Amino acid sequence: MAILPIRRFGDPVLRERARDVEAFDGALRRLADDMLETMYDAPGVGLAAPQVGRSLRLIVFDDGTGPQAVVNPVLSGFEGEQVGDEGCLSVPGLYHPVKRSLRVHAEGLDLQGDPVSLDGEELLARILQHEVDHINGVLFLDRLDRDHRREALAALRDQELGAPASAPDPTRAL
Ligand code: ZN
Repeated sequence: MAILPIRRFGDPVLRERARDVEAFDGALRRLADDMLETMYDAPGVGLAAPQVGRSLRLIVFDDGTGPQAVVNPVLSGFEGEQVGDEGCLSVPGLYHPVKRSLRVHAEGLDLQGDPVSLDGEELLARILQHEVDHINGVLFLDRLDRDHRREALAALRDQELGAPASAPDPTRAL
């Protein structure tokens, strides 16, 4: 297993719509393993393949119940609403409130290509929505209200000028 470099805000791969995974081979399993190791090392609770520079529909996460990978995930059954601070491993040091559905249903494939489905609530629902956004080229910054987006973009500019990022919150970084 290997820790992969995490692509940062501004990298064009984060803005692409990722391709479906078609080959369920050793290379896919190795990529998922490397992504999980990278996520735990960061540390964070979710990671999508574009964040390590691979434009593929593969996400990994651990909501506290153990490592999971879902290939070609599709969300449905959006219910309820939650608003909570969210961060992104590709936008380090920024945490802002994001409105998400409270519950979602996810369907996709496992690393062998067999169908999987899961229901997420609260943190798991937030993780699934954040990571599926990533494979569609969407960042959490896009989902902030106007004031928070302005604040976030100003902080990013300050970071470019050398200001330190705030301390990481591993339970909120995706
Ligand atoms: Zn993210």
